[in-house]
Amino acid sequence: MTTDCIHPPPFDSRWKQQFRRRLLSWYSKHARDLPWRKSTNPYRVWVSEVMLQQTQVETVKPYFQRFIKAFPTVKKLAAAEEQEVLQLWEGLGYYRRARQLHAAAQHVVAEHSGRFPRDVTILQTLPGIGRYTAGAIASIAFDERAPILEANTIRLFARLIGYRQSPTASAGQQVLWQTALEVLPRKDIAKFNQGLMELGSLVCTPKNPQCTFCPVSTLCAARASDLQEKIPQRARKTQFTDLNEAAVVVHKKGYILVRQCAAGERWAGLWDFPRFEIDSEGPLFVRKELIAKVRKQTGVEVRPSGLLKTIKHGVTRYRITLDCYEAGYVSGRISSTPTKPVRWLPAQELRDLPLSSTGRKIAKLLS
Ligand code: SF4
Repeated sequence: MTTDCIHPPPFDSRWKQQFRRRLLSWYSKHARDLPWRKSTNPYRVWVSEVMLQQTQVETVKPYFQRFIKAFPTVKKLAAAEEQEVLQLWEGLGYYRRARQLHAAAQHVVAEHSGRFPRDVTILQTLPGIGRYTAGAIASIAFDERAPILEANTIRLFARLIGYRQSPTASAGQQVLWQTALEVLPRKDIAKFNQGLMELGSLVCTPKNPQCTFCPVSTLCAARASDLQEKIPQRARKTQFTDLNEAAVVVHKKGYILVRQCAAGERWAGLWDFPRFEIDSEGPLFVRKELIAKVRKQTGVEVRPSGLLKTIKHGVTRYRITLDCYEAGYVSGRISSTPTKPVRWLPAQELRDLPLSSTGRKIAKLLS
């Protein structure tokens, strides 16, 4: 541990006192006025924490406000249709979060009479709530003495203790969770944990940390050893896989053919145009493949009429080239099942349908 970490826990009480005092004082002056900070209601804390996973604060703000307006309580969210929830989530990405949020709301209503448990262990039994989110809800909403560790605090703690190994590997997680627990004060937990995240987000930034303005700079091992740009250790670069896909907009007298992505598919629960991987090369072969795959996915025979647009986008480790075609309906009835619904929809109703992100881009081209 000593070679991996310059200043590992446990910390002496003087160090902890200084750290807590300086952090709380800094947070009282620099806390941003964010919509989810207007109340410590556990439902609002939970929604914001789920939205903020892998998403920037500025992106989350309007989504949070729309979501809370539509579903002001956990009971309202539990009673909503999944499609309504997905529609409000559209564009935020990582749709599994929305489905789990909805499932967890139903669980809170059914098992806990609509009241959020304050115990971290019980919170972690809810769908989509891991150790971090449970700690955030318990500490911010109930002032429970629960530690937190997310992207901002991982970076802050790794620098603070001078941890040189991978912060996401199991040994790294262990020492950083221990740090998170050790630094917690006895009271003001809600402010303290939010202060940690705020300091990581505003001052101890991934690049060019603002050590000169940092309230805990004299307690920071990375700063003392001039290692703040080298810690935390960078994750290995993602190896991307290239994919060629096609989406087909099928027209029939003002109606458009759409299908709901099934469980296990990318964008499960959202709607999309017939869409699939393309293996063929050359216009004739591609045309044949389009006809066969639209038939297989929807039961409908089509005649492709041309390329509408090519969209390049990335999803997790895939770099996707999506060719969007238009086609006319020729014959056949749609083959729709409860697990794989297919529909003819008036073109103007695409606006109100929760669509995949590329589905929305294609729909905009049609309007
Ligand atoms: Fe981060 Fe610099 Fe503060 Fe250390 S001194 S916690 S590296 S901002």
